[in-house]
Amino acid sequence: MKLTKTDFLIYKDCAKNAWLKVHKPDIYFAKPLSVFDQSIIETGNEVDQLARDLFPNGALITDRSDTKQTKKLVKEKAPVIYQPVFETESYKIICDILVWNSNTNLYDLFEVKASNSGEDKKKKDELYSQDIAFQYLVLKELNIPIGKLFLVRLNNEYVRGVELDIQQLFTKEDFTERVLKISNSVAEEMKIAHDFIIQEKEPHGSCKCITRGRSAHCTTFSHSNPHVPEYSVHDISRIGQSKKKLEELVDSGIFSIHDVPRELKLSKSQRNQVDAIQSGNQFVDKIEICSFLSTISNPISFLDYETFPSAIPRFVGYRPFNQIPFQFSLHVFNKGETEPIHAEFIFTENKNPDEAIIKALKKYLPNGGSVLVWNKTFEMGRNRELGMRNPEHRVFFEDLNSRIIDLRDIFTEQNFIHPGFKGKTSIKYVLPILAPHLSYKTLDIQEGATASDTWNKIVRKEFTDDEIKEKVNNLCTYCKMDTYAMYAIWKYLFDLTRV
Ligand code: SF4
Repeated sequence: MKLTKTDFLIYKDCAKNAWLKVHKPDIYFAKPLSVFDQSIIETGNEVDQLARDLFPNGALITDRSDTKQTKKLVKEKAPVIYQPVFETESYKIICDILVWNSNTNLYDLFEVKASNSGEDKKKKDELYSQDIAFQYLVLKELNIPIGKLFLVRLNNEYVRGVELDIQQLFTKEDFTERVLKISNSVAEEMKIAHDFIIQEKEPHGSCKCITRGRSAHCTTFSHSNPHVPEYSVHDISRIGQSKKKLEELVDSGIFSIHDVPRELKLSKSQRNQVDAIQSGNQFVDKIEICSFLSTISNPISFLDYETFPSAIPRFVGYRPFNQIPFQFSLHVFNKGETEPIHAEFIFTENKNPDEAIIKALKKYLPNGGSVLVWNKTFEMGRNRELGMRNPEHRVFFEDLNSRIIDLRDIFTEQNFIHPGFKGKTSIKYVLPILAPHLSYKTLDIQEGATASDTWNKIVRKEFTDDEIKEKVNNLCTYCKMDTYAMYAIWKYLFDLTRV
């Protein structure tokens, strides 16, 4: 059994999970990949393929187990090889790109990452160094003449012009020195990881996430911790940031929220959540909710964007990973009316939608009043990007952002807790409790990642004309539900505070 680079990196994150992937794939892969996970894989493949244009006319190894062809090409000193496959007795790697350097008579290695050079750089660089070190050590063991080691990733400073300039789009960073520095320790870790992975017997006991909040858990958590209920102490709001409290509960064998003792010191919002679950009654902090609602001014707009996150900028003015805002739904409620007025916009051409979406926003969005969203970081981020790409409208987007209020705050601040929320604050959990007559479950599109994927397939002409009509209709129904759901939740809270 060989340790692959992917499994080594999973091992570094969690040894037990890597073991499960290799020995119990039915458990590791039990949960099908979400549309979001699939889109990450597709993005990775797209970036990999585009990066090959930096070193054109290479030989591509298509069979992921074909070491023979790789050996032959290396022996012939093929100038560029894409996806070469190498195996030693214990390890296996598939590199991204090898380029023959005729000055040094060595192959330079280029590892391509579909990531941005700006975000979380230090942490990612450490991980990438380990990734490249694994490859370097395998190549060294096989006596492949290896020279420099490079990391190729997307340049977050790059702004697309009319043509995509791939020399500017990618950065090539020399990782040789830092990889050599850690290569001895990585070699040791590889041996230990290999021994761990090949053991037949499953490592016993709870995994280390037993003392971490729910968001840290992977999909195999319930397999390793069958005694922990699906909704457990791990779901107490922000418990992952109160490690001591969680450890105290776990050490006392308390996993159900129903068993959390009164004496345990919890924050106000955590205590409210626990009390609501234990009593089976909802918790409502009317004073806080009243104070929140009093900050909202009329007319009230409920706004939601649908976007496509494109790693490779598709249009002029876009940077890597900028979201393409292709759709919005808007419900506007005027004081004294019984129902809000709906407006919507969707752009289905493979062109830059900025101008059209800005025009529609300016047409439908009232000049004054509050703009309610669900998760303001997202909507405000899109407004900022639209303003940056279209400086003549920057003031409009600055004003829009200054009027945004996040309706979700009521729930993240735990001012309204219902046992049925199960500790979640997603609109998909809140809506069925507060407005059970509305449901996402009957919709053809039920979440944002599917909406993005559907739009991408529409503009890439992957559907027939009839299918496009149906898909556009589905997108509009989904986005409309998002803003009407916000209106319904606001109305519920408003009526509640009037009682
Ligand atoms: S839940 Fe955490 S510790 Fe357990 S297997 Fe998954 S990642 Fe590892």
